[in-house]
Amino acid sequence: MIEICTETLASIRRRLAAGELSAEEVVRACLERIDTLEPTVHAFITRMDEQALAQARGMDAAGRGPDVPRTHPLWGVPVAIKDVLSSKGVRTTCGSRMLADYVPCFDAVAVEKLKDAGAIILGKLNMDEFAMGSSTENSAFGPTRNPWNLDKVPGGSSGGSAAAVAAHMAFGALGTDTGGSIRQPASFCGLVGLKPTYGRVSRYGLVAYASSLDQIGPMCRTVEDAAILLKVIAGHDARDSTSVDAPVPDYPAMLAERFDLSGLTVGLPGEYWGEGVDAEVVTACREAITAAERLGAKCVPVSLPHTAHAVAAYYIVAMAEASSNLARFDGIRYGFRDGQARELIEMYRSTRSQGFGEEVQRRIMLGTFALSSGYYDAYYKKAAQVRRLVQQDFLRAFDQCDVIGGPVAPTTAFGLGEKIDDPLTMYLTDIFTNPLNLAGLPGLSLPVGLAKDSGLPVGLQIIGPNFSEGLILQVAYIMERNLPVLSMPAGVEQNRS
Ligand code: GLN
Repeated sequence: MIEICTETLASIRRRLAAGELSAEEVVRACLERIDTLEPTVHAFITRMDEQALAQARGMDAAGRGPDVPRTHPLWGVPVAIKDVLSSKGVRTTCGSRMLADYVPCFDAVAVEKLKDAGAIILGKLNMDEFAMGSSTENSAFGPTRNPWNLDKVPGGSSGGSAAAVAAHMAFGALGTDTGGSIRQPASFCGLVGLKPTYGRVSRYGLVAYASSLDQIGPMCRTVEDAAILLKVIAGHDARDSTSVDAPVPDYPAMLAERFDLSGLTVGLPGEYWGEGVDAEVVTACREAITAAERLGAKCVPVSLPHTAHAVAAYYIVAMAEASSNLARFDGIRYGFRDGQARELIEMYRSTRSQGFGEEVQRRIMLGTFALSSGYYDAYYKKAAQVRRLVQQDFLRAFDQCDVIGGPVAPTTAFGLGEKIDDPLTMYLTDIFTNPLNLAGLPGLSLPVGLAKDSGLPVGLQIIGPNFSEGLILQVAYIMERNLPVLSMPAGVEQNRS
């Protein structure tokens, strides 16, 4: 059964469509894998075994006509979803005690699109509470472990999504990325993770963290798999006024359009390759860039001079928006309520102090402060101005290159407990991912090998102009075929024996 689970999403969907495997067989293989590994990895908050099996049986009974690959591009393919996306009739916790019993009456658009494409949803994945964090240790449901080394974090906030796909429990997953939460866990777990351009995927039904930064995207084991999932979830949606009405390219078909990287200019920002990045990360990323040059790419130095200020600007904007978005969790309209409280103010206070974890409370307070009269100009307005400068850095750089390359994160996966008591150090790990969200740009994490000392996966970030997902995927696809293949996560396999 394990053989089924290790296949790529692209290959399993071909075999399902061809009738070589039944949907039930594939779902059972995943459930068996989850049974074995979930006690140590803890990627899921809610499993949907019964629903998944029932759906698979129903699909098998209905049969699959010759049109299946076209009409249902994910027919019978088991995937899983970060628990920040609404799922009809299935609890959606956002990793928070506040929503521990919340069962939405509607599906997020991205979830609806997966279902319409024939995907089978295996469950809801662990995450930092309300997507605030970089390690998945801020979940009210306990941390997730990195399948490559069980003493390490999987990254965050989409750590459950990354761990589930890396440990072969699902063929792909949806994550969300406000400041790096798809790309950084993908990098830490050896996966392809793509944050699309702001507006590419509808955010309807995504529980908001910072609305001007949030995007939903695929986390997969290969570039082709990510292209397939992105095509399914992308597109305009009238229910999200920020979703962009632009045609969705046929991303999987685009992969075959390019054979090498000749004619492509890759910008290497000095700020991403200098001090503060672990030597083993630089080495692995440099080797990947050398491989790109061998494949015909021309590399040029570029500069993103405001990089050093991006983390500060990001955390002010993100916390300000979060403080406003999370005001709705007041014990009256949604979620948990402290029923013991005797009067209104006490009820608000005790509901929110019990319902939210420490990091969420810290961010609500800081965000409220940054927006308060007298401080707004000094903090929020300044951050908004820096945000524009960061965006202009990228626009200028793209005058000189087609894509930008650099590390996703300054380190490989760090130890569980290593940074959790030091929020500022944790925030700084986002230095290369936050700028893209401030600018709205798409970025992909491509696994480029294992680091020499830690033996953990390293991700190269490929950044492109707005709506260049097709180009980014093409570049990643060509590089992927010329880079070492990462074998099964060692930590999990040892644990099995
Ligand atoms: N680590 C960042 C934060 O804590 C990013 C989180 C995210 O992308 N959701 O805000």
